[in-house]
Amino acid sequence: MKGKRSKPNWIDKLKLKVKKALGMNVFLCDSCKWNWRSACHRPERPNAAWCPDYEKKGK
Ligand code: SF4
Repeated sequence: MKGKRSKPNWIDKLKLKVKKALGMNVFLCDSCKWNWRSACHRPERPNAAWCPDYEKKGK
């Protein structure tokens, strides 16, 4: 998906709500390839539930 937004929209928030309600893991950092101290300086790490810089690791 192209075009990164800096903030989650209401759909993202709704999805997070549903996932949390289902007891699913909503933290992106676990599967993010930037989940290193030297690669990611976001204060949200390691518990970001939504992140514009997220990229799935293992690509
Ligand atoms: S880029 Fe975002 S999702 Fe990835 S580790 Fe940093 S805060 Fe987490």
